[in-house]
Amino acid sequence: MSTKILLVEDSESQLEFLREGLSKNGFTVEVARNGAEAYKKLFECSPDLVLSDIMMPVIDGYQLCRLIKNKEETKKIPVILLTILDKKIDSFWGKKAGAQLFLSKSIDIEELVKNINATIRRYPVTEEYKSNIAKQADSDNSAHSQLNIILNDLLLKSVFANEFRNLSDFMNYERVLVEKLFSLLSSFVEYSVAGIFFASPDDFSENILYLDTLGKNLSKNLLSDIQYDFFRKLEEIKPIRDSKFEVVRILLGKEMEYNFNDMKSKIIIPLVFDKKLIGGMCFYTRSETDYASFRYFDIMISELLAIFKMKYQYTEKEFMSVLDGLTGLYNRRQFELGIEQEFNRTKRHPADFSLAILDIDFFKKVNDTYGHQYGDYVLKTVADLMKSSFRKTDLLYRYGGEELVIIMPETNIEGAVIPVQRLRKAVEEYNFDYNGVKAKVTVSIGLTMNYVDFKSATELLKSADEALYKAKEEGRNRVIIHEGKSE
Ligand code: GH3
Ligand code: MG
Ligand code: MG
Repeated sequence: MSTKILLVEDSESQLEFLREGLSKNGFTVEVARNGAEAYKKLFECSPDLVLSDIMMPVIDGYQLCRLIKNKEETKKIPVILLTILDKKIDSFWGKKAGAQLFLSKSIDIEELVKNINATIRRYPVTEEYKSNIAKQADSDNSAHSQLNIILNDLLLKSVFANEFRNLSDFMNYERVLVEKLFSLLSSFVEYSVAGIFFASPDDFSENILYLDTLGKNLSKNLLSDIQYDFFRKLEEIKPIRDSKFEVVRILLGKEMEYNFNDMKSKIIIPLVFDKKLIGGMCFYTRSETDYASFRYFDIMISELLAIFKMKYQYTEKEFMSVLDGLTGLYNRRQFELGIEQEFNRTKRHPADFSLAILDIDFFKKVNDTYGHQYGDYVLKTVADLMKSSFRKTDLLYRYGGEELVIIMPETNIEGAVIPVQRLRKAVEEYNFDYNGVKAKVTVSIGLTMNYVDFKSATELLKSADEALYKAKEEGRNRVIIHEGKSE
């Protein structure tokens, strides 16, 4: 059987010239006068190769090439594009469109035939593949509707990419990142409950599943069933200890009586990079939804993966470094090491040391009222006030989001309470002002020391936490001391 070429050319004289030249060389030649016609013909004649002009009316050579390369059933057919001018940009687009070869129109027939034969040898199309193309002839292969699909996908991809890329500004503040992600996802994915989980590269961080219920007040039971279901799936990849869930975005109205069985459809998407679990997403809905067949899921997942990757690497960097980026204090990892070290040291060589945990009062409200940038400014300022309230030998850490810790070596409670109160007062009196926006802020502090009863650094830390909790309960803006035996 002779080799079949689909020749696409809008100029009659060129068409005749090429048709004659190719036929003489033993090819079977089918012709079309523009890209739209060619695309239709493709399914009727199943050629071994498409030889196309670039500049043509209706649908040009690039577009034709795109159409052919976009479809599983036709993408293996090699395409050679011909143009008058050998411009770099033409060849660039030709390659972007997926063309196998790009030739100047001024090439003589002999050269052209050589190139065609070489291309067909390099990209042979099997008889089976060709007969399958013929089978597609009845479906809607009009070039225009296929082009629309491609255009829509491209448009969506770039819109998605833009929207997701905007999120990269929020890597240092997980909570805002999560809320922005939910607000984006809820604009195009149907769900009753969605979940986001960022896996952490270290073993200290809590495993929090952030849930969005679109503002609905759903029962704790339902949500913890989802948490269980979700983490069970992720545990196939990596064990996850002590997880908890947190509902973000405000709850409204009375509790809805849905339970887990009402969720008719779901999808759980573990996000893996470099063989490591870097996070996961889930969607649960009360309606019958086939998430897997959702046309834009692939695009969404690849954008999500990029964001999760960035977040993971950010956390990893924070973890590996010693100082916290926002406040300049030692970070959490350093604290874990520091308290352990101080505890063990004073067990071996008895000495006092005190520990204070500070938590900003109503900090959520600061964020909600003035924005998280203002919140960051407040946090940074409190950290600065802290630096000026303590001795050089005291160790200052950012323990959690807006929780700061001070370890005071060689200091008992009586000694510690003085700088701690000084700090509390300094914050109370400070006039916060960021770009002219003024605010007042207070802090609550829990204070403890290495009492003899404590058997571990964890116990000591817990006692400071409890004192802090009490300080909150008793009205905030105060220091509460955990009492104990120091000898
Ligand atoms: P309370 O007086 O009981 O402490 O009330 P609160 O609103 O401060 O409650 P809580 O301590 O639980 O809230 C901590 C808030 O701090 C929640 C979180 O959005 C915010 N936060 C945590 N880390 C950061 C951060 O790095 N930057 C900003 N701007 N906010 C943060
Ligand atoms: Mg807090
Ligand atoms: Mg707080």
